Amino acid sequence: MAASFLETPVEFLKSVGPARADLLKSELNISTFGELLTWFPFRYVDRSKFYLIAEIREDSSYIQLKAKMIRIQTIGSQRLQRLVATVRDESGELDLIWFQGIRWVSEMLTPQQEYVVFGKPTLFNGRWNISHPELEILPVEPIPLSEKIRPVYNSTEKLKSKGLDSRGIAKLMKILILHEKFSVSENLTPDILHNLRLLNRQEAFINVHFPMTPELLKKAETRLKFEELFFIQLRLARQRSLRLKKHEGHRFLKVGDYVNQFYHHHLTFELTNAQKRVIREIRADLGSGSQMNRLLQGDVGSGKTLVALMTMLIALDNQYQSCLMAPTEILARQHFNTISAMLKGLNVSVKLLTGSTRQIERREVLEELQNGHVQILIGTHALLEENVQFKQLGFVVIDEQHRFGVAQRAKLWGKNIITPHVLVMTATPIPRTLAMTLYGDLDTSVIDEMPPGRKAIVTKHVYEPEQNKVFNFIRTKIREGRQVYIVFPLIQESETLDLKNLIEGFKHIVTEFPPPAYAVSMVHGQMKQQEKDAEMKRFLEHQTQIMVATTVIEVGVDVPNASVMVIENAERFGLSQLHQLRGRVGRGSDQSYCILMSRYELSAEARKRIATMVRTTDGFEIAETDLQLRGPGDLQGTQQSGILDLRIADIVKDEKILKYARNVATEIIQNDPTLIKKENDILAQHLLQIDRKKQNWGLIS
Ligand code: ADP
Ligand code: MG
Repeated sequence: MAASFLETPVEFLKSVGPARADLLKSELNISTFGELLTWFPFRYVDRSKFYLIAEIREDSSYIQLKAKMIRIQTIGSQRLQRLVATVRDESGELDLIWFQGIRWVSEMLTPQQEYVVFGKPTLFNGRWNISHPELEILPVEPIPLSEKIRPVYNSTEKLKSKGLDSRGIAKLMKILILHEKFSVSENLTPDILHNLRLLNRQEAFINVHFPMTPELLKKAETRLKFEELFFIQLRLARQRSLRLKKHEGHRFLKVGDYVNQFYHHHLTFELTNAQKRVIREIRADLGSGSQMNRLLQGDVGSGKTLVALMTMLIALDNQYQSCLMAPTEILARQHFNTISAMLKGLNVSVKLLTGSTRQIERREVLEELQNGHVQILIGTHALLEENVQFKQLGFVVIDEQHRFGVAQRAKLWGKNIITPHVLVMTATPIPRTLAMTLYGDLDTSVIDEMPPGRKAIVTKHVYEPEQNKVFNFIRTKIREGRQVYIVFPLIQESETLDLKNLIEGFKHIVTEFPPPAYAVSMVHGQMKQQEKDAEMKRFLEHQTQIMVATTVIEVGVDVPNASVMVIENAERFGLSQLHQLRGRVGRGSDQSYCILMSRYELSAEARKRIATMVRTTDGFEIAETDLQLRGPGDLQGTQQSGILDLRIADIVKDEKILKYARNVATEIIQNDPTLIKKENDILAQHLLQIDRKKQNWGLIS
């Protein structure tokens, strides 16, 4: 049977054996034929093309060339040793460099031998070199199945030392594919294959490893990418449909006095169109009879909290309590203050519960929660504690979702028989493609419009030698009554070093801005919460004019009078961090500024990040650029999800395929929510198979 062939342990493949099988398992997590088959090439070489060394350019990526080995040297002392082998062709010389596996590589190299060298050249001290290249002795042994387009596989030093470099893996792949029992069963329906004109699965696997033509390679890739994305989307669509069916939700049909009073008499401004739209989306959920599970995205200051507040009032009008959970104590208190202020005169009982709430007060709050006197509870993780019991919890807001784990959210849900409606707010915009995959089973709302009258923050890139200009600018702004943030990066090599960096920065700032004319605050991650809060408070109350900080101020802190954000070593920050930091200013009515300080020498990527910040303040545009620069693996929240453990598809480059996959999946689930129809059996079976392998997928909500 086909399935069992692919499940055969890889050690039974000819030429593998137990030792190599162990290595394949430990190095690449490959233990079966099927897993070997999904070890896809990460690129292909056009075998007809050989470069000359003199043709190498700055932007050459992986290249292939023919050259003779003329020198082999080991350089450096014990710990920093490296192997440098120089090769020459008719046009010039190039160094091949190894930092690892030096012994076995040097034993393998033969002086005066002609090699085919494959790798990515870089320029160092005016000389081209390739580190850890792939080498083959000329004449090259013929490759099976297809001669023209050669697969290149990722490997590791350990595997290479056992002959499983890229070429070694290609040989295994050949043996596998030419195996007399080789057969891959289809997992898509004939309809899908036909409608999207996809290659069948077996053809796709053969051609992705050993493409007959570039066209077939493309078709093979498309087919396999589609399959990968489709099953993720199918799972998410099924999950969402199950949730809507299974989780009965409180029906909030009424809009009553609380909402009306607030809207007509307390709200001093008009809602933006985006806010109105989102509130409509939320109201539709609240009336549907199913539990709401919605992600609300919107830049800092776009008015998310207000939307959350209006929703709380709807809950209140229907006799339900609400709670809002924030990631830090400072933020919780801030929410508490603004929400209390906005509800002033409305006779709503709003309470705060955090780790530092005193015993007596805590007891009182807990009691009033249970008897229903407290209508809105705001707090931190403290809300998750066992003894926090509501009388009638109807609505939960979670601010800055990435800081809360799935398990924690489930805990909040557990507080009632009927799960409360949940709104997750995030100011970290998630690119559409990522949101589709990561939060595919949540509903999403986006506030993509700022309240009117905000002045766009002016962002400037300044090189460190011009620091004095920046200091003068700061003095001017302080004279005008404004406040200033100065942020230093975490270097992460060591905590003490980071602190040293910050404290030196702080000292420097204090010498530039000496007392008594100026007062400078400092906040960093190693301070106690109380100290941090006290410093923040001083700044908030304008007792200090400058706040020197690490990224601990990144999230949510609101000091409208602060209008200048200076970021030191801006090149060390990621784009989303820079964006979050910039969001700390521009909250008042004054023109605000963000100054990105950096060295002159910048990597191309750092330059792009800074240029993006200078060009735009649109969080979504920034998030897209971030995704393109870094890939999805590094974005917040994706690592732990496992969902992005993609083998062949790329969430940035394959947006089109992703959309197809999503549409097809959505349609199928609409017609057959539990996949019980006969024609969908093939899909259900495959999902089950994946389930058995990855049990923790899709636990996102
Ligand atoms: P977010 O939570 O998205 O960061 P907030 O809800 O805290 O944004 O709103 C930021 C500021 O803008 C608050 O002072 C809020 O009162 C104000 N605000 C919200 N919506 C509007 C609006 N439609 N018009 C004017 N100001 C608004
Ligand atoms: Mg906010």
